[in-house]
Amino acid sequence: MIAWRIASALAVALVVVGCGGSSDQDAGSPTGSGVAAPSSTTGEVPDELADEGDMTVTYEDATTSEAQNGRQMMESAGLLEDLAASVNDMFNLPNDFQLLGQECGEPNAFYDPNQQAIVLCYEDADFAEAVFARDGDPDPVDAALNAEVGSFYHELGHMLIDIYDLPITGREEDVADQLAAFVMLSPDDDGAVDADSVKVIRDFAGEFRAFAEEQGEVGDSDYAGGHSLNQTRMYNLLCWSYGADPAGNAGIVDDGELPSDRAELCEEEYEKLDYGWGSLLEPYVK
Ligand SMILES: [Zn+2]
Repeated sequence: MIAWRIASALAVALVVVGCGGSSDQDAGSPTGSGVAAPSSTTGEVPDELADEGDMTVTYEDATTSEAQNGRQMMESAGLLEDLAASVNDMFNLPNDFQLLGQECGEPNAFYDPNQQAIVLCYEDADFAEAVFARDGDPDPVDAALNAEVGSFYHELGHMLIDIYDLPITGREEDVADQLAAFVMLSPDDDGAVDADSVKVIRDFAGEFRAFAEEQGEVGDSDYAGGHSLNQTRMYNLLCWSYGADPAGNAGIVDDGELPSDRAELCEEEYEKLDYGWGSLLEPYVK
């Protein structure tokens, strides 16, 4: 399987949130053509998908106190630079893409196929820091940055599905969450799952717990939405973290975060996720 080394590269600067929190966030929606082109199974990168570009980073202006706080957290950690570098190290990009830190007016993150950009909203980091602090996290800034990392890879999932025209089955929002887990939980050359990466996913899951608490009672519009419920997204992420390394991550079940009935399924669930995303991306990784 593909050896991903993103996790350790990010261990020093882990961040933020994601698509689809307290409300129907995430404007990111691939423009998929309905009938996808057959993907290459030869391992050769098609000419049009040779490495022709890079992901660039811009921290845009922040005017509100929430946005200024989020920007300060991201910029001082070098978050966007680390995330963009991980993409440039891993993937052949058909053209340049932007990673934007932006004041959005709400906690959010999204992939914009027209602008060819992933946007992490400063307010998302600010929101995450506040909820982790409220919940007694010993390092709410670090936890918030972790949630931002999770959000970024979720948006990267949308972006990769779009630019490579990947033939996914299943609801794209769930598949994008899987990509985030796949990237961060891929074992290193020794076959070990990085403990810091598991912490990132658990903090990403923690933000969905916070979104769920903020949301309160759910209704038909939530059940009918394009995203799984916040609680479901949280349990999925915990399940995949456990499933990637049941022995190393037994604490996720032992401490009651993940019910044992679900945990029984998670190793196989993660294997299938890993096989699926690994197969889809193999032609496009460096
Ligand atoms: Zn999304």
